[in-house]
Amino acid sequence: MQRRSALQRLIRGAALLAAASLPYGVARLLAPEARAQNHNREHNREHKRNHIRPPGALKDDAAFVAACIGCGLCGEVCPPRCIRFHDRDGGGKVNTPFINPEDKGCTLCNKCMAVCPTEALIETPLDEIDMGIAQIDRAACYPWVDRGICGACVSVCPLGERAIGFEMWNQYRPIIKDGCVGCGLCVEVCPEPSLPIWIVDRAEGTVARHTV
Ligand code: SF4
Ligand code: SF4
Repeated sequence: MQRRSALQRLIRGAALLAAASLPYGVARLLAPEARAQNHNREHNREHKRNHIRPPGALKDDAAFVAACIGCGLCGEVCPPRCIRFHDRDGGGKVNTPFINPEDKGCTLCNKCMAVCPTEALIETPLDEIDMGIAQIDRAACYPWVDRGICGACVSVCPLGERAIGFEMWNQYRPIIKDGCVGCGLCVEVCPEPSLPIWIVDRAEGTVARHTV
C-alpha cells in the first residue's frame, strides 16, 4: 500500500513537471488536479471571495449601484463574456455587473466602458484601471511550495513585467507588482485547485502597502 502511494506521488510529480513545460492551456487540461478543480472551485464559491466590478467602475460601490441602470450593454459587448449580473441574490445590487475571475478574467479591451450609457463605468486609461490587485498565497502556489514550475499566471498577464514577474532568487516563483490592475486573468488560468491567487481591493493588498 505504501509502495503504491509512493508510486502515485512519483507519477503526480512527473506529471506536474511535464505539465509545467507546456503552454498553460494544455497544462491545465493535463495536470492531475485539473479534474478536481471544478469541485474545489465550487467549494471556493461557497466560501465567498469578493467578485470584482468591470474596469472603470466607480470605486464607491454604493455610487456604482446607484449609477448603473442594469441595461446589460456591458455584458453584451464583452468579447470574453466575463461580465455577469447579480440576480435576486444580489439584494440591492440586482442587475448590476460583476466579474468572477475564477470563471473568466477581463481582457482589458475597454468595450464595456465605452458602451456604458451612464457614468457607472467611466472610460479609463489602461494604467489607471483599478479593479483590485492580485495576491498570491505562497503556501499553496506550486513553485512557492516546490511542487512544479508552472508560471501560467505570468504567461497570461496582459501587462507583463509591470504587473507580475518572478522572484529574483527563484525564476519560477511569481510575485505581483504594483502595476497589476486586477483583471483576474491570472486567477482564471491558475491550475492549483485551492486557487492560491485572487484579486483583493488595492487597499488590502500587501503589494499596495509594501511595494515590491
Ligand atoms: S474591458 Fe473588455 S474584456 Fe474587460 S469586462 Fe470590459 S468588455 Fe469585458
Ligand atoms: S497580475 Fe494578474 S490580475 Fe494583475 S494584471 Fe496581470 S493577469 Fe491581471
